[in-house]
Amino acid sequence: MPVPTLSSDDAFAEVKGKVDLVKVVQEHVRLTKRNKDFWGLCPFHQEDSPSFHVNPQRQSWYCFGCERKGDVFTFVELIEKTDKRGALVLLAERAGVELKQLSPDQKDRADLRKRVLAMLKLAAQYYEYVLWKSPAGEPGRRLLESRRVGEETARRFQLGYAPAGRGFAEYLRAKKRSLVDAQEAGLMRRDGTDFFAERLVIPIRDERGQTLAFTARAVRADEPKKYINSPETPAYIKGRVVFGLDLARDEIARRGHAVMMEGQFDVITAHQFAVTNAVASSGTALTEEQVRLLKRFTDELLLVFDSDRAGRDASRKAAVLAAQHAMRSRVVAVPGAKDPDEFLRSAGPDAAARWEDLVAKAPSGFEAGMEEDSVGLNPSNPNQVERVAARLREWIRQFPATLREGYAETAERHTGISRHLLLEEPEAKPARVAQNGAPARKPARRVTASGYLLQLLAVRPSAFDRVRTKLTSQEFDEDDRPIYIRMLESYERGGPTGLEADLAGYPAEEQDLIRRAWAAPPPNVDDEVAVELAERIRLEHMKGMQNGIIRELSEAERGRDSERVAQLEAQARELGRAITDMERRS
Ligand SMILES: [Zn+2]
Repeated sequence: MPVPTLSSDDAFAEVKGKVDLVKVVQEHVRLTKRNKDFWGLCPFHQEDSPSFHVNPQRQSWYCFGCERKGDVFTFVELIEKTDKRGALVLLAERAGVELKQLSPDQKDRADLRKRVLAMLKLAAQYYEYVLWKSPAGEPGRRLLESRRVGEETARRFQLGYAPAGRGFAEYLRAKKRSLVDAQEAGLMRRDGTDFFAERLVIPIRDERGQTLAFTARAVRADEPKKYINSPETPAYIKGRVVFGLDLARDEIARRGHAVMMEGQFDVITAHQFAVTNAVASSGTALTEEQVRLLKRFTDELLLVFDSDRAGRDASRKAAVLAAQHAMRSRVVAVPGAKDPDEFLRSAGPDAAARWEDLVAKAPSGFEAGMEEDSVGLNPSNPNQVERVAARLREWIRQFPATLREGYAETAERHTGISRHLLLEEPEAKPARVAQNGAPARKPARRVTASGYLLQLLAVRPSAFDRVRTKLTSQEFDEDDRPIYIRMLESYERGGPTGLEADLAGYPAEEQDLIRRAWAAPPPNVDDEVAVELAERIRLEHMKGMQNGIIRELSEAERGRDSERVAQLEAQARELGRAITDMERRS
């Protein structure tokens, strides 16, 4: 049956009349008001001083840097990487305008998402009601009390309690609502029992405060799984949401940094104890998408992870990821506590002040790793110096090339190890000397698969379409990763001409590389070659990971950690199979 249509001009006009461009832009760009207009850093090209201008009267925007311009639809089209139709759908959803011109398939998907969102909203209200107003909510209230989370904080996060059994299903039946939607929303099992039964329920909301999923904490000490999470649904994709951002965004902007914690509960405690710019990556290690989302609000992350090995590793990865997106990071260590939650609770009324002390003392993400790598170094023991130098070299190499020299200097000051030693490439060979004794011409940089692919993509950006399905940026060679990410972003933002438009904002050496490729393109420029290169890079990355696992395995074996050994062996086997598979196919 054809879907009845509403003239699309009508729909555009109606939606445009109902949304405010300034509000839409503000979700992506920090805007400052000057006279009647607003200014901010352009989200479509890299810049340090604001040239992005929004005129609220005319509901139009213009960037004096990259000369992009338009209305609210063009803005959403570019920022959400969609087309005019997609922008209309997104904005119509927001404005509450019913669109009748969607294809049946699009309409089904949009409807399902809407129903799931409505169901999640209802569930959050129901759980909150049970927590505070029903005798069944007692275990949840007791848990909050023991964690010293007050009702006001709990209500801001809209915490709730899921009672045992089929309470939510009964509630829906009474309201004559569909149980199928609740199953689609990941709230209920097929038999009608509540997925989160007997747990404290924590809504995971997007930066606008819309509930997309839940995570739920056990209240019983004998419960083997402390947390369970909503599955992915039409409303929720893991790794895209930053927990607490809806509540923290204003304070993040005011204080100039976001406090990044590991767990949702850490964040709730932090807000209880006046650290209201705290957020957490939800259910995953910090992802690129989360970093990009945070970058809309701030340029600095304050990393507060557990003090165990896993926490330190997560902190290092986050520091590198932040640097790759031109964000600064600092690392806060919580003394005498296993996590920030414990620290803040035990500090009680002094929490805010003691927190300020920690923040003031927090070293940069690089320095924190450096201190860890060089702890207890005895400069008169050459073996030890070599070991520390190797570790620091590896650490420095993970950061974008533009930062490395400065970091090597910092490390030299801290350890006394020469910065030249710290910047040395691991496979560096002694300079070749020609027969006549004069230094030979510097050998050209070996063209790696990733170097070749970068040149190819510079000449033919449309090859990104195939390449990005074969390869994640995390798999790209570390050295070339920052430029790869930048080029990909330019392409996603601006299509085939995006690179040209953004190039002026790239670091000088990256501009060089791209201009050289334009002047002298590599021998074969086509999509097939690009795909081949992407696959080769992915294979190399997997081999690298395998080597890492094998190294870790021998460590675990030495430490007689049999559980870890079994785990690593399984990982190595799986990776080995994947590698053989790939090699066979190519
Ligand atoms: Zn611009």
